[in-house]
Amino acid sequence: MTTDTKELSNRSAAVTATSGKHNFNSGPSILPKEVFEEAAQGVLNFNGSGLSILEIGHRTKLFGAVIEEAIATLKELMQLDSEHEVLFLHGGASTQFFQVPMNLLDGNAVAAYTDTGIWGSKAIKEAKLFGSVDVVCSSKAENYTYLPKNFVLDKAKHAYVHITSNETVYGTQWHDLSPFYNSGVPVVADMSSDILSRQLDFNRFDLIYAGAQKNIGAAGVNVVVVNKRCLGKVTRALPSMMDYRAHIEASSLLNTPPVFAIYVCMLTLRWLKNFGGIAAAEKLNNQKAELMYQTVDALPIFKGTVAKEDRSTMNACFVATNEELEKEFLALCEKEGMVGVKGYRTVGGFRVSMYNALPLESVKAMTDLMKHFAQTKG
Ligand SMILES: *Cc1c(COP(=O)(O)O)cnc(C)c1O
Repeated sequence: MTTDTKELSNRSAAVTATSGKHNFNSGPSILPKEVFEEAAQGVLNFNGSGLSILEIGHRTKLFGAVIEEAIATLKELMQLDSEHEVLFLHGGASTQFFQVPMNLLDGNAVAAYTDTGIWGSKAIKEAKLFGSVDVVCSSKAENYTYLPKNFVLDKAKHAYVHITSNETVYGTQWHDLSPFYNSGVPVVADMSSDILSRQLDFNRFDLIYAGAQKNIGAAGVNVVVVNKRCLGKVTRALPSMMDYRAHIEASSLLNTPPVFAIYVCMLTLRWLKNFGGIAAAEKLNNQKAELMYQTVDALPIFKGTVAKEDRSTMNACFVATNEELEKEFLALCEKEGMVGVKGYRTVGGFRVSMYNALPLESVKAMTDLMKHFAQTKG
């Protein structure tokens, strides 16, 4: 390990939960230990106010400072320009599956969608309620084990192109986004499971959305980053709660927002900033993913399920050579305090999620266990 690596991993270990468990849950998932401690304190006595964060009004100065810091920190971390607005909304990422087309896709217009997994296909289903959908590529026939790159985007035809930047269930991630950026078609991304995990030019997206419960904070809120210029172009009437413009105007306080969930996001964003921002997180995430996949590839009893070039740094999916071994390894994981390792039912095997707050030590513990298991079974 380089000194640099050591320092990064020490820092992450120092701030992450060490309850004896290694948390590889796919979402809701691990958050930094200091966030749990501060959030717990905020429930008892928020900022020395003598009140709980759970009992203060959302239009108070106390909460105003929380949401302002959350928005400002996110803008800073993502280096957003003045055209991009940050919103904290209800309904999870799944609400964005329909709120996006409601706001961006007119009834007679066509949007391009990439069908790269469960989440993308759900987004397609909802978008069809509001306009035409052109599925420009799909890896469904191969059980979503790779990212199809033979798509054609047409500036004259497509109102926007929708991508899932990281497919949480199948473990694929778009590493090269330039075909989308360079198409001239506005890009909309579901970044639920890799937002803030790697450096991207976030200003090149018209809209980014993410459920908070993977890399940003607690469940119950989602983050939307939207370029103001793309709004107000559809002809349909929008209910206020569904209209991004109304939320922008009200600074995410159109109605009572998920106060506590936003508080946890603010604490996590503050933590990430102190950690060194997205650049530091990316470095650590690459180290974790490298170690994980090297181990999968080196041990003959395990096999990665995804095309190597499309492997996700966030969710590593792999199987064992037979079902009996899978059961045995899952039982061993449980015994060793490795949580959330079972793969999604349509993929089987294992999924190891390695979000920002997961320390390198947890991946080391997992890969050591895999090596030990392979030895006893080899
Ligand atoms: C988890 C997830 C969702 C769903 O999020 P909810 O907040 O439960 O609606 C959507 N897209 C992706 C990529 C996800 O990982």
